[in-house]
Amino acid sequence: MAKGAVVAEVNLNQVEHQIARGFRWMRFQRDIESAYLEEYTRVRVRRAPIWAIIGTIIYNLVFFGDATMVPERLDRLMVVRFGVFTPFALLATLAVWKWPSARNYDLLSLSVVLLGGSLPMLAVMDSASPYLFNYQSGNIATFLFLAIGLRPRFWVMVTGLASLLAVHLGICSSIDSFDPVAFEGMVTGYVTISIFLAIGAYFQEQADRMNFLNRIRASLLQDRLQQQSERDELSGLRNRHSLRQVEKNLWEAGAADPVIQVLILDIDHFKLFNDVHGHLAGDDCIRRISTAISDTLGDRGIAFRYGGEEFLIILPGSDSEQALETAQSIRTVIERTAMPHRGLRPAGVVTASLGMAGGNRYEVSLQQLISRADLALYEAKRQGRNRVSVGSAPLKRIV
Ligand code: GH3
Ligand code: MG
Ligand code: MG
Repeated sequence: MAKGAVVAEVNLNQVEHQIARGFRWMRFQRDIESAYLEEYTRVRVRRAPIWAIIGTIIYNLVFFGDATMVPERLDRLMVVRFGVFTPFALLATLAVWKWPSARNYDLLSLSVVLLGGSLPMLAVMDSASPYLFNYQSGNIATFLFLAIGLRPRFWVMVTGLASLLAVHLGICSSIDSFDPVAFEGMVTGYVTISIFLAIGAYFQEQADRMNFLNRIRASLLQDRLQQQSERDELSGLRNRHSLRQVEKNLWEAGAADPVIQVLILDIDHFKLFNDVHGHLAGDDCIRRISTAISDTLGDRGIAFRYGGEEFLIILPGSDSEQALETAQSIRTVIERTAMPHRGLRPAGVVTASLGMAGGNRYEVSLQQLISRADLALYEAKRQGRNRVSVGSAPLKRIV
């Protein structure tokens, strides 16, 4: 299964609900059904040319049986096999290849077996050949081809088997050389085989569907775990653990622009905030600051909860002016959120300080940028907090 693509519109709850509820009538709820049919179509249409080739070769090899059992109808049978059936089957397969859909595949399956099963029988029904009984028994291959080769959806299969039965037995019932006892035997044989094939198809599709549900469930669970392992629960931002992957993407895969800026944000006097307002209010404050950061940042950068009340923001492709502007916006938005901080003298609002550092990823590692931004943050704190300080590259000491 193409991960993600197939299950794009399906969520884990829907899948678990479907597993719990079951699917006795061979149908899932709408979104899952369309994901299932998408996969069904892809797999079946990919195999259709193989079956078309195998099917037509075998179908046309029966020509030798025509020649020995019903030689007086050979001219008709040649037209039927090579002039009608073969081009029809190949063109219909091409059409399904070009316009793939579950409905088109099912239509192809039905039309091919009905045509393949009825044409030769219609061509020989007025024959006086003593081998007609043996000749008709070959039609069982058509039933098998439908159920084992083409394997359309269960209900299409049932329709196909019933139609094949009706057509085949209908034609045979009007062949005079079959006496009633022989005909009864034929009915019993074909009906029994059809029932077995239908039951087999039912269990097979049930297993296919269950398998499909389990696979998308596993894939959705994996996506969820992946997401959980990358996200910080309290803030909803990325966590420190996911930093390595982002670093790998930025430094190894490499974006077009090699310039990267890094911001480190630390909430001011937060220990005091906790002491005065309580730890729960502190958590809420972290949440609101995280929202302020991600709302202000938009898609300009990637925000992480780096430590308890420290945040790391990576701005790929920003120059230092743009980054400074972003840092100032974040700082202002936090201040304007106006969360009261009663611990301050005089009482004020929650603010944050930021340190900034930037460089070219060909020359500097993320760790180096973070250390410089951290030094700049320290400077911002030292200068009185609620400000942005820009770090500079350390001067190379000349010995
Ligand atoms: P400064 O202005 O110098 O940053 O002072 P500060 O009090 O904020 O000092 P510091 O940055 O060292 O504060 C860390 C505090 O953050 C300590 C801890 O009580 C608080 N903290 C860390 N993680 C959490 C958390 O998940 N929830 C809450 N409520 N508080 C946290
Ligand atoms: Mg801190
Ligand atoms: Mg702090």
